[in-house]
Amino acid sequence: MNYKNVPAAKIRVASPVIGEKEKRYVNDCLESGWISSIGSYIARFEEGFAKFCGVKHAIATNNGTTAIHLALVALGIGPGDEVILPTLTFVATANAVRYCGATPVFVDCDEETLNIDVQAIESKLTVRTRAIIAVHLYGHPVDMDLILELAEKNDLFVVEDAAEAHGAKYKGRIVGSIGTCATFSFYGNKILTTGEGGMVTTNDDLLAAKLRIYRGQGMDPNRRYWHPVIGYNYRMTNIVAAIGCAQLERVDEALANRKRLAAWYSSGLAQIAGLVLPVQKYYAEHVYWMYTVLLPEGGAAKRDSVCKFLESRGIETRPVFFPMHVMPPYEEDWARYPKATEFAERGISLPTHELLTQDEVAYICECLEYAIKRVGLSICA
Ligand SMILES: *Cc1c(COP(=O)(O)O)cnc(C)c1O
Repeated sequence: MNYKNVPAAKIRVASPVIGEKEKRYVNDCLESGWISSIGSYIARFEEGFAKFCGVKHAIATNNGTTAIHLALVALGIGPGDEVILPTLTFVATANAVRYCGATPVFVDCDEETLNIDVQAIESKLTVRTRAIIAVHLYGHPVDMDLILELAEKNDLFVVEDAAEAHGAKYKGRIVGSIGTCATFSFYGNKILTTGEGGMVTTNDDLLAAKLRIYRGQGMDPNRRYWHPVIGYNYRMTNIVAAIGCAQLERVDEALANRKRLAAWYSSGLAQIAGLVLPVQKYYAEHVYWMYTVLLPEGGAAKRDSVCKFLESRGIETRPVFFPMHVMPPYEEDWARYPKATEFAERGISLPTHELLTQDEVAYICECLEYAIKRVGLSICA
């Protein structure tokens, strides 16, 4: 393949891996009639996921956004509270803070990892700060130590938004086990998927009990139809959990496949002058939810034409998320977040999924190199 030979089938940016086991487990639900939010797959998925994260409790939810909202509610976050989070994240993180009536306080990004700039957090703390949300963006873990230290000193909760980072490790500790609690997503493009789904993990027994109560309409676990608090219906169905069980049984393979894919990209793109490849810091085990590159300096204005060229060659891509501070509900002075503003405009997420072949990755690398030259962003190597 070369950049002139467009493949017959479009190369998708993400694709789930669904096998026979998923079908068998789902069929088991359908045949047994346990299709709603009671059934053995739910406990099995929760227990398996807790074990995978090395925590005591995992509470399944219907998606990753409700998982974050549920975590904040169970921590007692409400109006008047401030929650610190990165401006460069998927919108769900900020929205969940707003659902609680609390105020999101944004922090710019680190220029190497694109994660929250941990050095910039302290200056954002006020008497109203209650929590810090650490988003492990694109699968690279946040540098957690300073966050944990600040939290300890100022009596703050730490919520890990690990929606994009199943299995990633920080200094050998798996994400999901580091903060007060952590949230995950199992949306169709995530590392493990159930279609739609989410999870909250924690080692805190009392918090786990609260999470379960708020997830199920606030009902008292010992008194049916008695609701001491206003809860939600954020439950996962047994069918969804069945898919999750099958996915979890192949998680090691999924992580290994992504690591191999990232290595193909890194060697295929290494010679493109000025292109910034994803880093893996000394403290990190990256899981490459998305293999995200930054175009060479000055590339922001050319990003969309690069993506359009790739599209014309049958390659789907995604721009990096718009940072929160540029969007209408959250808009602030852009100049306060210079790095996130710039990197979001220069960033492209390349196709990252387990079904990609080495030949396809080589083709994508070749097309990207050509596209960069074509828009005048780098001199021919
Ligand atoms: C996907 C994602 C979510 C939300 O998950 P859904 O399951 O789509 O609701 C939250 N935070 C981040 C960082 C995500 O990437």
